[in-house]
Amino acid sequence: MMKDSSWSHHHVAVNVSLSAINTDYTNALRSSTAQFHDHSDSCEHATHESRVIVRDLPLVGRVRILVDSHGLKALTFIITYWIYGFFSTYFIILLPHWSDGRIPDVAAYAYIMVSFLCLISLFRASTVNPGAVPLIDESSLDIDLSQLNKCQTCGMRKPARAHHCRRCQQCVLRMDHHCPWINNCVGEGNHYLFMLLLLYAFLMSALSFTLCVFQFWVFPKCSACIETWYLKPTTSIWFLYLLVLISVAMSIFMGLQFISQQFNLIMDRTTLENMAVSSGRDILRTNFRSWFQGVSDICGTRNALVWLLPCRRKPAKSIYEYIHAV
Ligand SMILES: [Zn+2]
Ligand SMILES: [Zn+2]
Repeated sequence: MMKDSSWSHHHVAVNVSLSAINTDYTNALRSSTAQFHDHSDSCEHATHESRVIVRDLPLVGRVRILVDSHGLKALTFIITYWIYGFFSTYFIILLPHWSDGRIPDVAAYAYIMVSFLCLISLFRASTVNPGAVPLIDESSLDIDLSQLNKCQTCGMRKPARAHHCRRCQQCVLRMDHHCPWINNCVGEGNHYLFMLLLLYAFLMSALSFTLCVFQFWVFPKCSACIETWYLKPTTSIWFLYLLVLISVAMSIFMGLQFISQQFNLIMDRTTLENMAVSSGRDILRTNFRSWFQGVSDICGTRNALVWLLPCRRKPAKSIYEYIHAV
């Protein structure tokens, strides 16, 4: 709990100990001090946030949807991809051979679980606040404003490593990149969900492909399927050809993305910072850390048991910790 009252009102640089500040992400932004207002989750304060719809849903909690036609089309495409991948695998391969006893229960449940974890990760990565920089009331000078850069586009004061996203029309804390496929920025608030999405999408696609391989070369022809299942083999084969194509493409694409993100984690660099280096706009700075440290950092916890849960809320740092981050 921050002791606002004990702070003197003259100029105080914020190199105070902040280790005690570690609350839920939203709470941290909203209540860390009176100088900061969490405009990011509220339509009332929205000035450059008019493109984001915020709703509180029962059970699910707060969701944010970016109103961007290209992003919404890309997201719809990805959801269609998931629906096609899941249902064609489930009804054409998994269910018939599972009921015939050729696929063990554990494998069938694993596929279903991974698929739904992928869907939950997609939903949360695209609807969670990516880390919009909170509005800073400059009239309350309890902080050293010189430690904050001013965004050249929106004029917001922002800590180091925050970037302005032109699609979202906001500055995002430790922005990795804007991902049109999830129609959201990837930043401090949802980077761990993006990683989980890559991981589960890779696993789901790889399992779908493996089941296709078994369907084509291992499992015997399912004569009962002709009467039992909805599609004739002559029709379902075309669904399977397309399934092979998309599962291979997704496995490769997601797998490579996931691996490159692991390198970024170890080097403590974002995708934007990598691009700035490769285009010559920045110099190469490497700040190597262990993979465990990197994942703990983006997941906001060192408890590895919960890293794989996409429903979890991330415990957040105070805005002050970003001000010191260089
Ligand atoms: Zn900005
Ligand atoms: Zn964005």
